[in-house]
Amino acid sequence: MPTNYYWVSWYKEQLPRAAKASQQLLTNLRGMIIILLVMPAFVAGLLVFLIGSDGQATEILLLVMVACISAIVYAVGDVFALRLLRLDRLNVGWLPLRVGLFQVLSFVNDGVVNIALYPIGVRLSYSFDSAHSTQDFETLVFLGIQVIFSRGLLFAYLQRRYRAEVLSFDMPQLLQIPPGNSVVCGMVDDILRRCRELSLPELRLSLWLLRSDRTLLPSLFAASQDEKTEYRMVIPRPFLSLVVADHPDCAFAILAHEMSHAFQNDVELWSRNDLFYSVFARTLGPQFAAIAAVSIVSAFLAVAAGRIESVGPALLVLSLTINLLRTQRTVRNARKTSEHIADVFASYLTSVESISQSIKEYATDKSRLHPSPAERIDYLTQMRTQLGYDPKPNE
Ligand SMILES: [Zn+2]
Repeated sequence: MPTNYYWVSWYKEQLPRAAKASQQLLTNLRGMIIILLVMPAFVAGLLVFLIGSDGQATEILLLVMVACISAIVYAVGDVFALRLLRLDRLNVGWLPLRVGLFQVLSFVNDGVVNIALYPIGVRLSYSFDSAHSTQDFETLVFLGIQVIFSRGLLFAYLQRRYRAEVLSFDMPQLLQIPPGNSVVCGMVDDILRRCRELSLPELRLSLWLLRSDRTLLPSLFAASQDEKTEYRMVIPRPFLSLVVADHPDCAFAILAHEMSHAFQNDVELWSRNDLFYSVFARTLGPQFAAIAAVSIVSAFLAVAAGRIESVGPALLVLSLTINLLRTQRTVRNARKTSEHIADVFASYLTSVESISQSIKEYATDKSRLHPSPAERIDYLTQMRTQLGYDPKPNE
């Protein structure tokens, strides 16, 4: 049996790339959280270094400390609102309403926190005349640190939540399917046999039935991340009754696509990043957009009032926003690559028609982080032309 097909060597070349891209995303995400959390200490150090005199240094450190404590209170309030509205979950109804309510609650929360600071002598006000420039400067530093530190804490919380969400996969609706016990086991065994023939790495894989009708398509989870990852394929009930029963060719192609993610080693990272970015878009995204807009306006007003030094905080918030948008684009591009490679793999294990039909009929995810069905089919057609039409490995 020949295993030196051109497409197989191409596929094997893509594997480390997919794994590296998803690892890089996780590093980016962690780096962003660390930057947000370390920023206050950095700003405090810089200010003390620049301003210098003893009395003022103590005052600055005190200001930064109060800003950090109020940021913690602000973040705790927001976490409470997030959980109350169930926005830290992937599947919730009435999404626009929940997002709107969260923004209102978060705004009120911030207002309450800052009003509570008045009795201890923190007066937050900003005017554009130079007579109050010290007060304005302190307000900007205070709000800047408060916003950045509290958002950093919220990010860190969300990151932990997703991990829990991914692992909470051991839910009561899951039931292990014993090997060799159903049509779907036969399909998976068939795919694994072909993968062995292509000298792809051995997979530790188990099948689980999801006793719920919420989703249609199977998904792959990494249950442990030691030297040999254990993969669990979760198969929703409707997949068996609607796809396996009526369109076995499509079912085969969909299973092969999912298993490609195991070879690509991008399973766990994807589910976490997906969840992370959907929660981000629901909660922090609109806030960052609002903060960026306010920063631009105040920067213009400051320049018009002849106070160039007040532009600093606006530039900081803007650079953070641009960085966030760039990270999101990286996620989207990496996601595309990952899906495309899995599609090409599935097309060679089954047929172009089976995987194309599956994409057209079942890939209904509207998330902006996922490539659209049209994009996926375009890529598939293009790659198949380039890689050629090798016979199926079992023929
Ligand atoms: Zn996929």
